[in-house]
Amino acid sequence: MSHVAFIGLGNMGSGMAANLIKAGREVRAFDLSEAALDAAAKAGAVRAASAAEAARGAAAVITMLPAGRHVKAVYEDGIFAAADPAAILIDCSTIDVATAKAVGAAGAARGFAMVDAPVSGGIAAASAGTLTFMVGGAPEAFARAEPYLAQMGKAVIRAGESGAGQAAKICNNMLLAVSMIGTCEAFTLAQKLGLDAQTFFDISSKASGQCWSMTSYCPVPGPVPAAPSNRDFEGGFAAALMLKDLKLALEAAQGVEASVPMGAQAEALYQLFAGLGGAGKDFSAIVKLLDGSWR
Ligand code: NAD
Repeated sequence: MSHVAFIGLGNMGSGMAANLIKAGREVRAFDLSEAALDAAAKAGAVRAASAAEAARGAAAVITMLPAGRHVKAVYEDGIFAAADPAAILIDCSTIDVATAKAVGAAGAARGFAMVDAPVSGGIAAASAGTLTFMVGGAPEAFARAEPYLAQMGKAVIRAGESGAGQAAKICNNMLLAVSMIGTCEAFTLAQKLGLDAQTFFDISSKASGQCWSMTSYCPVPGPVPAAPSNRDFEGGFAAALMLKDLKLALEAAQGVEASVPMGAQAEALYQLFAGLGGAGKDFSAIVKLLDGSWR
């Protein structure tokens, strides 16, 4: 059986590659970091000396890299030349829509089927194999990518043509940022008006203010015990990553002249929070900026 090449074995990629191995796939791994490669080898992956070496002869190539420039470089300087044109190429990184479309088109020009397949769900979901994949690409490319993605996630949804996966991801995360900030504001105001947080939660979670940021990820400790607010906002989805996604959303909005004033406000607030030292905290910690208790 041909192997899967996996490039980028960081916080997310390491868990994803491990799940492919558990599902019985042979994974050839490459990362610039020796430590990441060592960990992948321990999980059962075969080490490769470069992205091109990993991709040679692979049935599928999966990348999970920090940003658009890394994705462009890894495909254009290695994978496109080395991979068999029959391989399915799957980029799971969160990157800008324009680069996703450009790399997809460059792949298509060389005869490759390629999808952008960013994920929802953090490091815990990557390890548990419960990610949600939003996929952009032709229907045939989606059909070929799906069996691999299904072994790393709980849901695999086609969003449309090339770039549509990235579009879905940044629109979702922009909405999440706005709803989180709104939830934080409401809890802060409720508290200042003398309402008990649990009481406000009990009411609003059953009224029209209800949203995921409140009922699954409540930014004040107590009402949702599993939320990062109960552990001083450690773990979870870092404010720095939310800021990255908001910047991608604003860049995409500018490109199509979409008006996103709330998204722009959210980006400004997360930028401020990151500048004040909050980048590494879970994104719900922005409640501390709003209630005045940050540092
Ligand atoms: P990470 O920084 O932990 O991992 C990225 C890995 O890519 C690193 O190990 C790095 O050494 C490697 N890398 C960089 N350039 C490379 C190259 N040219 N060749 C080979 N390897 C290279 O990042 P992460 O947290 O795993 O995130 C990966 C992607 O997933 C990002 O696009 C991020 O936005 C997205 N994402 C992350 C989360 C999360 O909670 N961490 C959630 C959803 C989506």
